[in-house]
Amino acid sequence: MRRITVFGATGSVGESTLDLLARRDDVKVVALTGGRQVARLAELAQAHRAELAVTAHEECYGPLKAALAGSGIEVAAGPAAVVEAGYRQADWVMSAIVGAAGLAPGFAALSQGRTVALANKESLVTAGKLLMSEARAHGATVLPVDSEHSAVFQALVGEDIAAVETVTLTASGGGLRDWPLEKLAHATVADAASHPNWAMGQRITIDSASMFNKAMEVIEAREFFSLSPEQIRVLIHPQSLVHALVAFRDGAIMAHLGSPDMRHPIGYALNWPKRAELPVARLDLATAGRLDFAAPDLRRYPALRLAQEVMRAGGAAGAVFNAAKEVALDHFIDGEIGFLDMAGVVEDTLARHDAVTGLGNAAESLQDVLDIDATARRRAVEVIRARGRAA
Ligand code: NAD
Ligand code: MG
Repeated sequence: MRRITVFGATGSVGESTLDLLARRDDVKVVALTGGRQVARLAELAQAHRAELAVTAHEECYGPLKAALAGSGIEVAAGPAAVVEAGYRQADWVMSAIVGAAGLAPGFAALSQGRTVALANKESLVTAGKLLMSEARAHGATVLPVDSEHSAVFQALVGEDIAAVETVTLTASGGGLRDWPLEKLAHATVADAASHPNWAMGQRITIDSASMFNKAMEVIEAREFFSLSPEQIRVLIHPQSLVHALVAFRDGAIMAHLGSPDMRHPIGYALNWPKRAELPVARLDLATAGRLDFAAPDLRRYPALRLAQEVMRAGGAAGAVFNAAKEVALDHFIDGEIGFLDMAGVVEDTLARHDAVTGLGNAAESLQDVLDIDATARRRAVEVIRARGRAA
């Protein structure tokens, strides 16, 4: 039996992971963690006969305990209990909490030398160098789950990374791709939170419309594959059937294609280094008919330009970028700032952090990263207030 823990079990990636686990008889679910969706967490814990269910919120302890009364499933609550779950013996851990909250639990699992399937891209954006060196130090394996990164990873099997010229991540363009630039400033949460091809959590769906998701993925690719900023490209591909392209120095390009279903990259990480049957729709190119590609317009997607600046700055820039982006997204969701203001807030927060603290100093520990994250969040809120006053 393979022992498996799922962080963020009640989310979109978590549910897809559990869907795959339910089809197997060789796994033992160890711990499932979630946020406020206590009823769903309890349901999943029972269906999968988990040993432990953890909610990240202390005030949800009572309701979760009550929902699992008599089940024999252990219950815990609070951020520390989520991290604790990462220390439990397991062979494979899915890191699918959304946001910087996924950082510490992922590190806990890596410190135990686990195989960690990493959906939480924020971990690599905020603490890429640290995370990869932590994994090496403890003999842990990190497997990409983001569909583009899984695609690159698969295209690189048997290849020498030194023979790679460029890596191209595709982007659907999100729900607002065809909106005129003038209209974008007025996009609502409902407009930005619908995606043409992928069914995902609300936050990443809005990040897809603003291209912050792709910006994060560019940084994620740099950290995961140790590429230079210049080697990473983005291509708009509305059909989301080609997930990534790897160009080699002999001029060959390897593309990864498949239907847009997260159970493919999750299943690849689950079965790695082998391949096994997965319940995903088979892509029929004759039916698809065409594949379109276009270069992204950087005026429309300032997040992509910011990603390049963040990579060039290095040091703390990724952590500041992510924190500012999360704060800007919260304020957009709450209706306090407009869709296009998000990039302005992130840019101003990076500039303010650079002016006051400097972006160049790399974090040397998880605590350093968490401190930078907290400082950057405070500054992002100040930036939002200052922009509000100026408007
Ligand atoms: P989601 O919003 O659907 O689910 C997030 C999960 O994290 C839930 O279980 C939630 O309860 C939990 N969570 C939220 N805040 C928490 C906190 N403070 N502490 C502990 N747990 C908390 O998100 P998702 O779409 O499944 O995305 C999860 C991660 O995977 C993100 O990092 C996202 O960027 C990445 N990802 C998602 C997809 C996708 O298709 N959804 C694709 C690629 C990468
Ligand atoms: Mg992706």
